[in-house]
Amino acid sequence: FDKRDGWMWYDGAMVPWNDAKIHVLTHGLHYGSCVFEGERAYGGEIFKLDEHSARLKESARLLDFEIPYSVAEINAACREVLVKNSFTDAYLRPVAWRGSEMMGVSGQQNKIHLAIAAWQWPSYFDPEERLKGIRIGNAKYRRPDPQTAPSTSKAAGLYMICTISKHAAERAGFADALMLDWRGYVAECTGANIFFVKDGVIHTPLADAFLNGITRQTVIELAKRRGFEVQERRITPDELPGFQECFISGTAAEVTPVSEIDGIHFQPGQVTKTLFEDYMAEVQPKKKAA
Ligand code: PMP
Repeated sequence: FDKRDGWMWYDGAMVPWNDAKIHVLTHGLHYGSCVFEGERAYGGEIFKLDEHSARLKESARLLDFEIPYSVAEINAACREVLVKNSFTDAYLRPVAWRGSEMMGVSGQQNKIHLAIAAWQWPSYFDPEERLKGIRIGNAKYRRPDPQTAPSTSKAAGLYMICTISKHAAERAGFADALMLDWRGYVAECTGANIFFVKDGVIHTPLADAFLNGITRQTVIELAKRRGFEVQERRITPDELPGFQECFISGTAAEVTPVSEIDGIHFQPGQVTKTLFEDYMAEVQPKKKAA
């Protein structure tokens, strides 16, 4: 993956993909002072780019560093990466981190870097295959208390528990892992938010201890536009058998139905299908008025 043709935006310049390097003594690598974004471009336009760039800056602020580019500059750089690589449908990965000038827990002397990579990454499955749903296991780790970690930052360090949980789930034959929060309420998956449906009503955990996904917010808006009732609330694991449908949402996952959470079965149904279709329509570039 680190060897291919193409270009990466790196600290204000376009550099060949294979030359985009960092020093081993990078603060972000040793102490986790690193934040990132995940974005998708559809038909040449990056969906909700403003929201992603603003979240990137906010994620960094929560880790006590300021990205030295404005939202408008980050937006322009993301678009430049797409054009330079001749991509129309792609995944973009902006990443910001503290550099290698000093070694120690304090990173105040270290330069802040920003790089933006892009690669072609089609939707996970074909729609028919996707509507069958994925199987999810239970995660060993819980999302931390917001008083223990900056839990709403898209910080690289918070993904440590996600990677461990996802590996364990994969070894057990599942596609992903469901994480609870520190209190034991249902939280999210390792890289996506989660929704449930019961008798036509949509239920999703309150985003008070994890990333309030841009896809999650979009799905809630689309659901309300369709007239569905959406309840954002605390959900306990013992409620899961009572739900009829389940799906996850995220920039990479888009809307992906879930058929099972560790022995509890769901039937991807009409609500999931409707929101999947509405989401795929929503991400398409808006036709500009002539
Ligand atoms: N939670 C986690 C842990 C994630 O990594 C992601 C993906 N960024 C999400 C939720 C969904 O966020 P979004 O819809 O903004 O991609």
